[in-house]
Amino acid sequence: MKDFNPADKIQDLQYFGEFGGVNPSISDSSTYTFLSAKTMFDTFEGNMEGCYLYSRHSSPSNLYLDQALAAMEGTETANVSASGMGAITPTLLQLCGAGDHIVSSRTIYGGTYAFLKNFTPRFGIETSFVDVTKLDIVEAAITPKTKVIYCETVSNPLLEVADIAGLAKIAKKHNLKLVVDNTFSPLSVSPAKLGADIVIHSLTKYINGSSDTVGGVTCGSKEFINSLKNVNSGASMLLGPTMDSLRSASVMKNLRTLHIRIKQHSHNAHFLADQFEADGLKTVYPGLKSHPSHELYKTMINPEYGFGGMMTIDVGTLEKANELMELMQSRNLGYLAVSLGFYKTLFSAPGTSTSSEIPLEEQAEMGLTDGLIRFSIGLDNDIQRTYEMMKACMVELGIL
Ligand SMILES: *Cc1c(COP(=O)(O)O)cnc(C)c1O
Repeated sequence: MKDFNPADKIQDLQYFGEFGGVNPSISDSSTYTFLSAKTMFDTFEGNMEGCYLYSRHSSPSNLYLDQALAAMEGTETANVSASGMGAITPTLLQLCGAGDHIVSSRTIYGGTYAFLKNFTPRFGIETSFVDVTKLDIVEAAITPKTKVIYCETVSNPLLEVADIAGLAKIAKKHNLKLVVDNTFSPLSVSPAKLGADIVIHSLTKYINGSSDTVGGVTCGSKEFINSLKNVNSGASMLLGPTMDSLRSASVMKNLRTLHIRIKQHSHNAHFLADQFEADGLKTVYPGLKSHPSHELYKTMINPEYGFGGMMTIDVGTLEKANELMELMQSRNLGYLAVSLGFYKTLFSAPGTSTSSEIPLEEQAEMGLTDGLIRFSIGLDNDIQRTYEMMKACMVELGIL
């Protein structure tokens, strides 16, 4: 991937706005006029590039953000949506119908898990959940009905790493689409460059980075994105999870500082993970040598962006986890909140929050323990100071 740097691709986009502005004008219209009736017909048929129809289909502001995110992921094009789930659900419904089968990682975002486990069976789509770090198990789960392999680059909340190049080979061999949710590792990993067919993000997290909106994107080939937006048969067009133009303009402005933020998130998380592991806490971070996929992940990342801002520690019991999170919040070390990618540290106990959709027995089986705390480490300027304050909380509660 040495020839591909996602932040350079974002930097290299050039804008001359409607009035010469350095930011494109925000398109504040739901509908668009045509000077001739024939052009309107051709646009409906999907034959007119550069003409807009109706903003559920596309808008100039959304297309700017589509282009920027496609450039970042190195795909032909992209389609932004109102939320991450608004990208994931139409993508999977576009690829699969009644009688089809999905092989999915078992450690995925709780909402995606609930969608595949509880919702898509209503439409005759069945999913097998497997340990995606074991390529032989993934391949063994494929049936003649399988259409999709689904995973997250770095999984939520256990931070397992998917071997995307290995999965892509299996997908090609069986003529399946590999769909990768790259929400935890923007810039660090470029899944399409490793062979993924479709790359999804929840923009809500690192890409927007200010916890002030939800948003999503599907990045892929022109053929697939056009099928999602097809006025007669496209799941995005027909289900309607459209991002608002005002919002896409603000997300795009935040995207421009993503590389600076990711480096700081990674630096801070790596520092804390090193310290907490040395202190004897059970710490999971892909940048630690003790992480089972550390060597693999090293070969996957664009190294300058590091191993990301997410880490977990296990403090033994849910009671201790709750006490620690409440104390850390009262000391202003961050917020007891779900989500990730904010400038302040966010922490939550996944078993009782973001992964509570996963039944308790299954949580235990996948190693999602009660005392687990998931951290999205913030942009703290002095991480040594943060470490000392966090450690003081742990000592006070008898965790260290
Ligand atoms: C948050 C998240 C989603 C869902 O995104 P929303 O914007 O909340 O709809 C999907 N996948 C991952 C990995 C997430 O963290």
